[in-house]
Amino acid sequence: MDVNLDETAKTVRVDETILYPNHSAETLNDLVLAVVPNLWPDGFTLSALSVDDAPITVYGLNGQQLNFVLPQPLQPGGAARLSIQYTLKLPYAPQTDPNDERPRIYGYTDRQINLTNWYPFIVPRDPQNGWLLHDPWFYGEHLVYEAADYTVNLKADPALVVASSGAAEPNGEWTRYTLQAGRAFIFSMSRDYQVESQQVGDVTVYSYFFAPYERSGKLSLTASAQAVELFSQKFGPYPHKTLSVIMGEFDDGMEYSASYFTSKSYYDRYQGEPSNPIMSMHVVYLAAHETSHQWWFEKVANDQALEPWLDESLAAYSERIFYEHYQPDQLSTWWYVRSDVYNPQGMVDIPVYEGGGYRPYTNATYFVGAHFLEDLRARIGDEAFFAFLGDYAAQMSGKIATAADFFRILRQHTGQDISDILVAYFRSPH
Ligand SMILES: [Zn+2]
Repeated sequence: MDVNLDETAKTVRVDETILYPNHSAETLNDLVLAVVPNLWPDGFTLSALSVDDAPITVYGLNGQQLNFVLPQPLQPGGAARLSIQYTLKLPYAPQTDPNDERPRIYGYTDRQINLTNWYPFIVPRDPQNGWLLHDPWFYGEHLVYEAADYTVNLKADPALVVASSGAAEPNGEWTRYTLQAGRAFIFSMSRDYQVESQQVGDVTVYSYFFAPYERSGKLSLTASAQAVELFSQKFGPYPHKTLSVIMGEFDDGMEYSASYFTSKSYYDRYQGEPSNPIMSMHVVYLAAHETSHQWWFEKVANDQALEPWLDESLAAYSERIFYEHYQPDQLSTWWYVRSDVYNPQGMVDIPVYEGGGYRPYTNATYFVGAHFLEDLRARIGDEAFFAFLGDYAAQMSGKIATAADFFRILRQHTGQDISDILVAYFRSPH
């Protein structure tokens, strides 16, 4: 992608090329792309579209979906080269509707520009269900991503400090960013970012934050670096060379490739009460949670709309693994503050659409899910449990895992009867 940002007009001109290999066993006659910026009025203007240099003039562009018939059927093992030119008009991000539970990340605030889910990408194709593009929902995530290699050239005002998913290098008047086997490439830019960094082996962790949040930014940096180190030992190698921790101007954490946003309200509360251990705990568990998504989301993807527990219960439980290693005296406080104060109820394996609201949804998929993993670990023992997690990460690396994959690999590591646990936690026990 060649990306031209007009900071004043809040527009982005993009020249994008996708090399798409058909890894499926079927001949493809059409393609479906997710174009999330088109959900905003005038948010996406397409100026040219072609496949292997043949212009595509007949296409559907409705909501977040772009679809068209291929000029030539794409055989298994073949590849198509898509070329797309378009302009994004960035929305003003801050929430205006108090009933809106969705964090507004994409777009701009008075001091931050976030390009998240901003470029058209070909959605995964499921042999049974076809192209996988689910409807957005009020909370949770709805997109499913293949792994892809990215080269992104950015032209923007040099006064902007740029956080991204990629490793940066100068490229004439551009800056080139590269990312291998990424799910979702982002940029976050501001004139006001302060940056701190820390090295963990060959991984550089960056923390981007606004004044006066230096204390919070540094705490997130330290905790994220600790998480990279610990989870690399427990789950296998960290998949990238950088991790960018970005202070969001919204009240939620959110993971992307080699990057995540932290919650502004957590920084606010820690800033206001730095000696209150609960306020620092919020910052630290969120750092552990979002960092773990580099394994459970980035390395091993899943259908975030239909099987959100697959990444979220593992990310919540990764916080537990973080606390038992680094702050074991705080572990019971963490269980209470993070999960049990909400008395989490519900079955783990609900689609996002059946969550019944943000809190019941997170209770079921994150925290009942964490208790499922705790009970599973107690039943099969630490050795089998961690061997399973490492093997699940290794076997499903670069792929989109399902519950069936999770339980198939689990049963390669234990012969214990877990049927009572599954019945207690799952609507559809495997
Ligand atoms: Zn999460």
